[in-house]
Amino acid sequence: MFSLLVNTYCNGACPYCFAKSSMNGKQLDLSNLDLLVRVYKKYNQKVAGVFGGEPTLHPDFLDIIQKFSQNELLPVVYSNALMEAEILAELAKTEIRMVLNINTRDVYSNEKYELLLKNLHVLSQTLGRKVRIGVNFYKPGQDIESILDILKTTNFDYHVRIGLASPILDETNSYAREEDIPQLGYEIYEFIKKILARGYIPFFDCGIRLCMFNESQLEDIRYDIAGSISHSACYRMFTIFPDLTISPCITLADYIKKLNLEETTNFKKIYQFYESTFAKYTALGNLEKCRKCHYFQKICTGGCLSRTIINHRHVEVQEEFDFG
Ligand code: SF4
Ligand code: SF4
Repeated sequence: MFSLLVNTYCNGACPYCFAKSSMNGKQLDLSNLDLLVRVYKKYNQKVAGVFGGEPTLHPDFLDIIQKFSQNELLPVVYSNALMEAEILAELAKTEIRMVLNINTRDVYSNEKYELLLKNLHVLSQTLGRKVRIGVNFYKPGQDIESILDILKTTNFDYHVRIGLASPILDETNSYAREEDIPQLGYEIYEFIKKILARGYIPFFDCGIRLCMFNESQLEDIRYDIAGSISHSACYRMFTIFPDLTISPCITLADYIKKLNLEETTNFKKIYQFYESTFAKYTALGNLEKCRKCHYFQKICTGGCLSRTIINHRHVEVQEEFDFG
């Protein structure tokens, strides 16, 4: 329910970074941890998602993890795996889960890639199945073989997260372009077939659309995907920034005035507020054809809400030009 950004700086270079416009070098003050724990408890949370930037760069990262653990909140750390050796050694002794966002070889410098492989080896030996790998599709022709090579040499959880890179509202990230989505559907399908053959189970992150795949591809993979094919958590997942401001999904943070987390913050009311604010867009879906599609809002969300807003904006701009 909560995505806590413990810092907004990073040592990675993901071209599609969802947090790009929020990277302003801030970090969570440890004095706010008690408040966060109380809020999490009030909402019966069992896990505490720890995000960044790159969260392991926070100078008090291990204290943050420890604080959550001591309060029976299982820390789930979302990391790029480019952490320092001292942090890596400590992580091995900690009761956590990790979700690692891994990119294709070309995204890293030689030095960073060497560090990545070294860290993955250690994490595989120490945390093993407590770690999941995720990959994001953001442009056609990504070197997916380099991801398969990593899966071959590690011993992580069998589930592999597959994401379609969503746009931030200011469009500063390299997100999957609308015109590339059919090709990306094909490449995701091919990737799924390859990881299934190696014994892995794919699951989709939010924003995947049913019609990215053709009928025979869908038929072929629908029972092999863990969880639903199309889902989204656009405002069910609250983002909490290091300064304790709150927004819906980070891709939408610029759309809506941020609220401040307080002891009395009522997330049910915030949810209703977001729901009414975004209602006109959730009713649209990414594509013109969504509104007439019999899958819409049943087994397909119509894609990422941030993408819907952008697609709609592009149409408006196009209409303006046409008019002139
Ligand atoms: S806006 Fe919704 S669908 Fe898009 S990335 Fe965020 S949570 Fe996922
Ligand atoms: S709801 Fe929209 S995105 Fe989903 S399958 Fe139908 S047309 Fe495609």
